[in-house]
Order: sequence, then structure tokens, then C-alpha cells
Amino acid sequence: MQESKDLKFEEINEGFSAKEAIDEAKRCLNCKNPLCVKGCPIEHDIPGFIHQLSMGNVGNALQIINEKSNLPAICGRVCPHEKQCEGHCILNKKEQRIRVGKLERFIADFDGEMGLIREKLPQKNRGKVAVIGSGPAGLTVAGDLARQGFNVVIYEGEQELGGVLMFGIPKYRLPKSVVKREIEKIAGLGVTFITHCMVGKDITVDDMFDRGFDAVFIGTGTAIPKSLSIPGSDLVGVVQSSYFLRMVNLYQNESIDRKDVPLRVHDEVFVIGAGNVAMDAARTAIRMGAKNVSVLYHKTEADMPALRTEYEEAVDEGVQFLWNTSTVELIGKRKRLSEITIHTPEGEKTIPADRVLLAIGSRPANRIVSTTEGIEVNDTGYVITKERPYGMTTKKGVFAGGDVVHTPQTVVLAMREAKQVAKGIAQFVDAKKLLEE
Ligand SMILES: Cc1cc2nc3c(=O)[nH]c(=O)nc-3n(C[C@H](O)[C@H](O)[C@H](O)COP(=O)(O)OP(=O)(O)OC[C@H]3O[C@@H](n4cnc5c(N)ncnc54)[C@H](O)[C@@H]3O)c2cc1C
Repeated sequence: MQESKDLKFEEINEGFSAKEAIDEAKRCLNCKNPLCVKGCPIEHDIPGFIHQLSMGNVGNALQIINEKSNLPAICGRVCPHEKQCEGHCILNKKEQRIRVGKLERFIADFDGEMGLIREKLPQKNRGKVAVIGSGPAGLTVAGDLARQGFNVVIYEGEQELGGVLMFGIPKYRLPKSVVKREIEKIAGLGVTFITHCMVGKDITVDDMFDRGFDAVFIGTGTAIPKSLSIPGSDLVGVVQSSYFLRMVNLYQNESIDRKDVPLRVHDEVFVIGAGNVAMDAARTAIRMGAKNVSVLYHKTEADMPALRTEYEEAVDEGVQFLWNTSTVELIGKRKRLSEITIHTPEGEKTIPADRVLLAIGSRPANRIVSTTEGIEVNDTGYVITKERPYGMTTKKGVFAGGDVVHTPQTVVLAMREAKQVAKGIAQFVDAKKLLEE
């Protein structure tokens, strides 16, 4: 049982062997004006690390990567490379793009196994920073500030660290051992983690200042999924995709039983929405034994927000797509979902359904802003931040970044913002210390 459970969730995209990686690196033209760097939100020195790898210098390659990223094994797997670095690669015109993502992954995994680099760390005497949330934004701020001599403590509401990396993105795309390894590296920079501590409930932002923190960073993402306002959306069997994915991840790490995963073998499943979360929910439903999985999207295939590769892999795995299709009503028997009425270009029809997975977006929770005076949010609940110091909220010393500011985006965009905010926090704390002197 254990084996078949794991087999279906084995990582689907294979990494490079050492020979394949070096051969691939040698194909890089090392362009004078490297478009790949322009395509990368954190402007990695891509030709630089590829050049080192092409000579077999994995440690040097990693050193170059470390200058910009604390999460290369993750970015190497889940970044939308086709739109970013690889999409901009000059060789892409001949459909022979350099597989930058797989090279980054190879370098990071190699270091993960071999422990190539031991960074010399500065004394942590520049100030004390509390980071709320251990997703890509929080981890990036923590890693960048720890490297610059700040004493950083991450407060995480969950038992486990990693945010969406741990509980959202499925294991077959991002093995959890990879996430844990990257977090261990950040712990190795001297960052302290406090888990199972929900800020706004167990401790407040003001308590943090009372405990001597010089600045606080909010990187709490968008935890509240949007719901559908149509008849029947409260029936048993209608589930948020984020909850479904979370329960599958918990089942995978043996924290819960199979019966607690809200999907039964042979279920007739409909996923509403066509973004990357919908693709993950649909493909995970297939792996959990659903009979049929259909994605319903009210616009056309061309409008679909999901990445093309994600969509194509979903189709290959047997997910069906109904375009220009809206959900009119969810019908139940004894409070349990039994049918779904949809409006398709051919007209309206009612068909049997056991499970509906909603993937129509999410927004930030207000747990922190409602328990802290002075942090303003916009009409939709996103935290408002300033340009100077970059990322500071309307409350002095409190900063924010990642999805909680910029709406749900990607790992690397959360990282890009977090890197900028880390600079803003460093400037703020340095100025504060100077004035205190
Ligand atoms: C299913 C799914 C698949 C995705 N796939 C991809 C992909 O393939 N590639 C990609 O680039 N992006 C993907 N994304 C988007 C990406 O994961 C997010 O953009 C990114 O994780 C945002 O990072 P963040 O740090 O801002 O927030 P999060 O990752 O959401 O982290 C927020 C953290 O804060 C914690 N937290 C919240 N409130 C509190 C509190 N009050 N106190 C303490 N801790 C708190 C949470 O538990 C969590 O750990 C996906 C998202 C989802 C949901």
C-alpha cells in the first residue's frame, strides 16, 4: 500500500546526471547580452553559473547562485522557466533552449548531497528581526538578513515549515525532502524557527517589539480561498482545492489517514478554475484514484492562466477540459453533492458529480492586521507598503512582502520582492541603531 501510494507521487521530471548537466552547460553560448538574465525575476548570473558548471566547478556555480537565491533546488523545479530564463534564451528561437531550470536543480541537488559550501557567517550583532511565515518570502528575507549579520527568528503558524512549498505544491512536482533540505540550509545560516505559533493569536506584532525585535516582516501569503456563490456550494463534497492538496500532502507524510482525504477512489470529480492550483488539484485527484476528472473554465483555452506545460501534462494524465463552461448549480441528496448543472456552448446540462474542487483564487487572512494597530490594507485585504524604506507598511518597523502584498503569484516573484524588502529592513534597522546611539 505504502509503495503504490508513493509510486504515483514520485517526482515526474527527472533531473540531469552529471554528464548530462555538463554537456548541457557546454551548449550555452555565454552571450554578451544574456537575455536569460533579463528573463529571470531575480536576475541570476545564469551564464556565470553555467560557465562554471561546464568546467565541472559545481561549488563555484553554487556560490554564484547563492548570491541571488536561497531556494535554488525549489526554483529549479517549480519556476515557470518557459516564460522566464528559458523562454528568453537566444537558442529558444531554434527550439534548442538551454535547460536552465534543470541545471540550477542539478547544482543545488549536488550540493544538497555533498555539502560543498560552508559559508563564513558574520556575527549576528546588527539587529533583531522577526519574520512571520516560512514560505518563499519569509525564507528569503530570513536568509538574506542572516547573511548580513542580523539575528532572525521565523514564526510559523503550522507545525511544519515551508508554507505552500510544503502543503500546496504536490510532491510529484516538488518532493518534500527537497523543501526540508533547503530550509535546513537556511537554518545553517543561523536563523531560528518557532513553529506552531500563529501570530495574531498566540503572540501579536506589538509583543514582538516588546521582546526586543527591531523590525517585523509579514510574509503570510493568501490563506483564505475564495468561494463560489451559487446554489449548493455548501454541500458535502464541495471542497477547496487548497484544502484538498493540503490533506493529500498530510496523508503523504503519514500525518492523517486515507479516509480523511476528501476524495474517494472512483469519484467523479469536477475542478472549477484553470490556473496552476486547478492543474495541481486535477492531477492529484487522478493520482488519488478519481474515476474521471474534468476541469471547468468559463473562458477559452487561450485565456487559461495555467502554464502550458502544466496543462499539457494534465491532458496526458487523462484530465478533461471543458472550455467556455460555467457552473450554474450544485445539487445534493441529503446534503451531499450528487449532481452538477453546467452551462456549455451546447447548452445547459445536469450530470452526476461526487466531488467539486474549487480553485478560483485566494486572499490574505486578516489575523495580523486586525490585532495590530496601524497596518493599512487595500479594499481586498492586501497589505499596503511603501517604496522607502522598501516594503515598510503604514506601521513603523513593520514590513511585508510576497503574496500578502502582491496577490498570489509565483515562488520567484515572492522571492524577488522579499529580497528588496530585506534591503529595506536592513536600512531601517541600521538607521534605528544609529539614532539610538
Ligand atoms: C497549489 C499551488 C501550487 C503552486 N505552484 C507553483 C509553482 O509551480 N511555481 C511557482 O512559482 N509558484 C507556485 N505557486 C505559488 C507560490 O507557491 C506562491 O506564490 C508562494 O508560495 C508565495 O509565497 P509567500 O511566502 O508569500 O506565501 P506562502 O507560501 O503562502 O507562505 C505563507 C506562510 O505564512 C504562514 N502564516 C500565515 N499566517 C500566519 C500567521 N498569522 N502566523 C504565523 N504564520 C503564518 C503560513 O502557514 C505559510 O507558511 C503555487 C501555489 C499553490 C497554492
